Amino acid sequence: MTAPLIDPFQRAISYLRVSVTDRCDFRCVYCMSENMTFLPKKELLTLEELDRMCSTFVRLGVEKLRITGGEPLVRRDIMTFFQSMTRHLESGDLRELTLTTNGSQLARFADDLYAAGVRRVNISLDTLDEKKFADVTRWGRLPQVLKGIDAAQKAGLLVKINTVALKGFNEDELFTLVQWCAERDMDLTFIEVMPMGDIGNEDRLDQYWKLTDLRARLSQEYTLTDLAERTGGPARYVQLEETGQKIGFITPLTHNFCESCNRVRLTCTGELYMCLGQEDMADLRAPLRNNPADDAPLEQAIRDAIAHKPKGHDFDYSRQAVDGQMSRHMSHTGG
Ligand code: SAM
Ligand code: SF4
Repeated sequence: MTAPLIDPFQRAISYLRVSVTDRCDFRCVYCMSENMTFLPKKELLTLEELDRMCSTFVRLGVEKLRITGGEPLVRRDIMTFFQSMTRHLESGDLRELTLTTNGSQLARFADDLYAAGVRRVNISLDTLDEKKFADVTRWGRLPQVLKGIDAAQKAGLLVKINTVALKGFNEDELFTLVQWCAERDMDLTFIEVMPMGDIGNEDRLDQYWKLTDLRARLSQEYTLTDLAERTGGPARYVQLEETGQKIGFITPLTHNFCESCNRVRLTCTGELYMCLGQEDMADLRAPLRNNPADDAPLEQAIRDAIAHKPKGHDFDYSRQAVDGQMSRHMSHTGG
């Protein structure tokens, strides 16, 4: 039997997040600059290589696969990749196949995703105001995303909304967003803005809205019950007693979540990042491409990489300066 992936801190690695493209049809202000230079196509893992890579991780014990980007649904023929992962769900080796998307392409793909075995999807949405939506995503249009959300629910997908908490931007929509999600039976997770990549003229500290503050405001209107649920990541959950919905808080900057970390991240070029908040990575593309008929070198490279998974991240805003700033964008490592 293949030995599972265990890191030096005795954490079992069972969750792989895969960025399948660095490209996107939006240019969210906290994520990208308006003029992004994207990777040449030949740098990207092909869909066949992505299959081989993910299948190797599944063989080594990964049970949950999240497809992300960039915008995963703008990668050409990405549905064939989802369809090829269905075999791991059917064999029982993979427990969950899911994705994080901006929702722009869901009206086209929701049914196909469901047919491929996807049951849940995270959709990013920071505002319900059309003008503000266009401002924050630069290239996105709200009605298109709302259609995508409708299509996802109609297809039978459970939808969770991800909202980046942005000071002075969506503070005033806190209760509107919560209610809107409750009416549609959707959970909602707030994300603290993280120092990932150069984003042009935007100032990180200006954008930073502490989730402890958001939570305090929420508790003025609702009864919050802490849930014990942990996903091995930075999210913490509460239930709103009045609506029954689950609200998540992703606070990498204010809490330490690393002791139970179960995940690693693969970029679209085959780099494996052991931690979102560290620069250290391992190149898996070379062992994959140099050995087209033999997975053993790739397996060994994965094991060697996991043996270097760091204890935790170094993000810190506490001194009113952005420490632990990462040079790569979120779209590179996959959010
Ligand atoms: N394009 C897809 C989307 O927007 O859902 C998937 C990739 S996106 C990088 C994944 C998540 O990361 C989104 O929810 C986005 O809001 C979040 N994100 C991007 N940049 C971020 C940053 N600097 N801090 C916190 N969250 C960020
Ligand atoms: Fe694109 Fe998602 Fe980044 Fe927005 S957050 S620019 S949708 S990758």
